Amino acid sequence: MPVNRPLADVADALIAVVLAPRCAACAIPLESPTRGPVCAACWAEVACVPRPLHDSSQSGAIDRSQSAGRYEGALRHIIHAFKYEGRRTLGVRLGAVMRQAGSDLLSDADCAVPVPLHPWRHVTRGFNQAADLASRLELPVVHALWRTRATAPQTGLTAIKRRHNVRGAFSLSPLLSHRRHHAMIVNRIVVLVDDVRTTGATLDACAQVLKGAGAREIRALTVAVAEAPETT
Ligand SMILES: [Zn+2]
Repeated sequence: MPVNRPLADVADALIAVVLAPRCAACAIPLESPTRGPVCAACWAEVACVPRPLHDSSQSGAIDRSQSAGRYEGALRHIIHAFKYEGRRTLGVRLGAVMRQAGSDLLSDADCAVPVPLHPWRHVTRGFNQAADLASRLELPVVHALWRTRATAPQTGLTAIKRRHNVRGAFSLSPLLSHRRHHAMIVNRIVVLVDDVRTTGATLDACAQVLKGAGAREIRALTVAVAEAPETT
């Protein structure tokens, strides 16, 4: 729906004075709160420099990887606000950033598969950030994967511990119908979607399940790539 800018300008001025909301990334007062919870300067900083990643798969199950930027600065703050502070509307713009960064990888793909949350974490967070992002990629979204057990948060774990942590943690979703499996996964190009990639252990574990289920090619697309902790 087109935004009535003069009206929005009045609303911005009123909200800015009465509520004084701050940018979810840099915390300066927002000049145009109706445009969203992140200021224009922070979005400008995020203007993506696509990062093709060549080392994404320990098992070889991932064929290509792409990320929109590094998990630092404004992008890190925006993802944090999106994921942990309930700023779910940020997924719209983050999805656009992913589409731009991943245009090569998305152009001839058949579907997007989000990395699943464990059902309990899904309930406590209220949404799966990867699914929100996948829904913005202009591809059919297939919830093909299932997290079979809760895993400890990957944050702070070394690469080896991360691999161990997610080993056997994913399977094909019991909710995926036989028909959809064959129509969308078997012999298809699948884009695996998550918010942040660190060592790639989670994406690799998911890719192995999808390859085992017959996918022809797995491409991993994330908003950001984080520096991996030491590898020993
Ligand atoms: Zn800002």
